[in-house]
Amino acid sequence: MPAARKSAPKKTFASLPAKRLRDFTESVIREQTRLAHVHGAVNLAQGFPDFPCEPALKDLARAAIDADFNQYSVTWGMPGLRQAIAGKMGRYNGIRADADRNVTVTCGATEAMICAFLSNLDPGKEVILFQPFYENYHPDAYLSGAKPVYVTLREPDWSIDEKELRRAFTGKTAAIVINTPQNPTGKVFTRAELELIARLCQQWNVKVFSDEIYEHILYDGAAHVSPGSLPGLEDRTVTIGSASKTYGITGWRVGWAVAHEKITDGLRKVHDFMTVCAATPLQEAVRGALGLGPEFYRDVSAHYLRRRDFLVQGLEAAGFRCHVPRGAYYVMADVADFIREPGSKGRGRFRDDAELARYLVSEVKVATVPGSSFYKIKGKAATAHKLRFCFCKKEATLAQAIERLDAFRSSGSR
Ligand code: GLN
Repeated sequence: MPAARKSAPKKTFASLPAKRLRDFTESVIREQTRLAHVHGAVNLAQGFPDFPCEPALKDLARAAIDADFNQYSVTWGMPGLRQAIAGKMGRYNGIRADADRNVTVTCGATEAMICAFLSNLDPGKEVILFQPFYENYHPDAYLSGAKPVYVTLREPDWSIDEKELRRAFTGKTAAIVINTPQNPTGKVFTRAELELIARLCQQWNVKVFSDEIYEHILYDGAAHVSPGSLPGLEDRTVTIGSASKTYGITGWRVGWAVAHEKITDGLRKVHDFMTVCAATPLQEAVRGALGLGPEFYRDVSAHYLRRRDFLVQGLEAAGFRCHVPRGAYYVMADVADFIREPGSKGRGRFRDDAELARYLVSEVKVATVPGSSFYKIKGKAATAHKLRFCFCKKEATLAQAIERLDAFRSSGSR
């Protein structure tokens, strides 16, 4: 038996995480999913479908395994998939891309974005984020040592205040993140807004990280404009996409980043050492999926439009005032009436949106995401009286959620 230690260290710091994690909290979206499991709640929090994907996609994945696409792929993605992505970029996004020089396949858009941050931003640089923002951008900034600078989208239509945007650009700004269609608001950036951003990026020599994961989910005639297709932005934009939302396969983790050769070189270095490659058989299946005809893409929007209208109608009837999204598959609802926080208009019994969301998941059995988790400016009424509901769910799931929310409202719980 080994001899016992004479004296153990009085205190051990072995469990302390690295300082760069100091400002991290658990993802609120994923926390709500966890709570939905604990409480047996309907999950309208995390944006993933609860219905099966297209049978054609399953066939493609099965065929890829059968054909023994089972080993690492070339680090930056299987050549056939990169060619399919380059073709789609030309056809749909108006961006000229060469499969070898400009396209990198990643483990979802999530990895593409962190690679863009880590390979382009030096510590101390600034990155502009529009808020409300998708919650990953914030940790991406911390991990790369960059400082996030926020520009708040103005309600009710989530417009950009040009003065505020101009003020955000400084000599330290290295990048701006654009997410169109946007999570959580459903805003679809207009060409005019993107042209304004393009002018400022050229003036200040700033790169664009453009998250276009919802590019095929558009309503009411909204058109998708890829920032990277605009004059002046072609060489300074990382265009990020994914198979996750378009094909309803968020667990496959196949995404991509398309950028100028020099930017791509850096991005590939981070990707190579971080994940090596995305799952090879699923890359091969996504190559096949990218060949689906135009009807498939029309159906994607029509499919979600029905669900959007169903959820918005149900929520409005239950007393939640909705911002109707023009893209993506989330609804931001105003819940000021339920909140008693000073400064908000509400007279309700909940302290803030987080408390309301906790009550909804545990008692009403509907999981949502408190709007404040998409903002960094805390304590302002505008950020603390929102909930995000996602509608990429079966109609039966949405109906059950609406029924429960309606019962909650009728019980006078406000
Ligand atoms: N994009 C999805 C959402 O906003 C899922 C986020 C995640 O957990 N990766 O809900």
